[in-house]
Amino acid sequence: MRPTQNPKTYRVKSFGCQMNVYDGDRMAELLAEQGITPAPEGEQADLVVLNTCHIREKAAEKVYSDIGRIVKDWDGEDGSSPLIAVAGCVAQAEGEEIMARAPAVTMVVGPQAYHRLPDMLREATSGKRVTDTDMPAETKFDALPKRRRSGPTAFLTVQEGCDKFCTYCVVPYTRGAEVSRPHADLVEEAKRLVDGGAREITLLGQNVNAWTGENARGQPVGLDGLIRELAEIPDLARIRYTTSHPNDMTEGLIAAHGEIAKLMPFLHLPVQAGNDRVLKAMNRSHTVESYLRILEQVRAVRPDIALSGDFIVGFPGETDAEFEDTLGLVEAVGYAQCFSFKYSPRPGTPAATMDDQIAAAVMDERLQRLQAALNRDQLAFNKASVGKTCEVLVERKGKHPGQWLGKSPWLQSVHFTGEAQIGDLVRVELAEAGPNSISARLLETAAA
Ligand code: SAM
Ligand code: SF4
Repeated sequence: MRPTQNPKTYRVKSFGCQMNVYDGDRMAELLAEQGITPAPEGEQADLVVLNTCHIREKAAEKVYSDIGRIVKDWDGEDGSSPLIAVAGCVAQAEGEEIMARAPAVTMVVGPQAYHRLPDMLREATSGKRVTDTDMPAETKFDALPKRRRSGPTAFLTVQEGCDKFCTYCVVPYTRGAEVSRPHADLVEEAKRLVDGGAREITLLGQNVNAWTGENARGQPVGLDGLIRELAEIPDLARIRYTTSHPNDMTEGLIAAHGEIAKLMPFLHLPVQAGNDRVLKAMNRSHTVESYLRILEQVRAVRPDIALSGDFIVGFPGETDAEFEDTLGLVEAVGYAQCFSFKYSPRPGTPAATMDDQIAAAVMDERLQRLQAALNRDQLAFNKASVGKTCEVLVERKGKHPGQWLGKSPWLQSVHFTGEAQIGDLVRVELAEAGPNSISARLLETAAA
């Protein structure tokens, strides 16, 4: 069967982390430049980009069920098939296997090569199946179109890749070594996002706080230097960053939390486990104590900081007592919100072949207990916010007439009713807390 010759509509479906969401947006911009428009909600697209995640097995397997569904639902011209591109980390790690296992896939494109999508598309419409999983030295960012429009919140990838090689993780293999984008490019992209409507920018990186660069005066700066520069953009109201590694939490970045009003009081600092033997086996290169010390320092300069983290339960060899240490750490920190996962062996990583892989039932039980503790703390954090007044950045309409949804400075989902528009920063009083959201009373619409 030949793929449809003249794709008019596209859909980009991103899985996994926020960096994939950013890449997905950039691919959409590239396709729009080719005159292809987004497929309306609920309608089939001529070209589907599956922007995949390889971090856990479940996430990687999803791609095959999605391909099957797209082919089954296809209702294009007689004898044609849809154009399907597999992008993201599964494409990088399993490109050849995808081409062999899924004949409907016409393009496989890795996370460092997606700027070549328009050329690949030309080849694909002429009937070829094309793969590009190179990690070229020249940066894809220079080849991407300039950013134009933005919603009130925008992602900005500042750093890619990872040199840390935690023993369970595929990222160093799928995303390559740590690379920081140049300071000047980031300032320019941020200004464009703000001109296009963004009021909040979240700086992204697999290890975002490993970012380094040179400012306009030629001085070496870390992420805190970049944040200070971006805070000077007048219409940018809020700055966030994610995901950080404890080893790259510099004194300057910690101090920035106490000094830069636009830097929101939220820190996502994954710890993974609460036991030093497990952390060592994970090759995390921080200890429980050094992690807690960082949190203490951040709390000292920004007492209201909302803390977040990632946890893995059931790492090979984790004993019941070591898992209890993780629960103890959770209890000690009092997180505002967290992600927690069952350990998933990833082919090619050292942990996948370690002895003492943990039984699925044990992991299930540990995850349930951990999530119960994290949910308890999330609700407690939300309840402790009731009565506070704060600004909410309005992101979209709610389900009910006159209702609006947005985020508090502490990244809580807030809903309220009243006069507002998307992109407004409004002042509210937080009134009633649930586990996942807070209802608020509108006090005033802040100057837009
Ligand atoms: N660089 C960040 C750090 O070191 O904390 C994390 C980035 S990673 C893409 C996101 C999260 O996925 C990790 O923090 C970890 O909790 C989880 N993760 C990574 N590999 C995993 C695996 N093999 N099984 C389960 N969870 C995993
Ligand atoms: Fe993966 Fe560890 Fe790198 Fe984070 S620091 S991306 S968990 S290897």
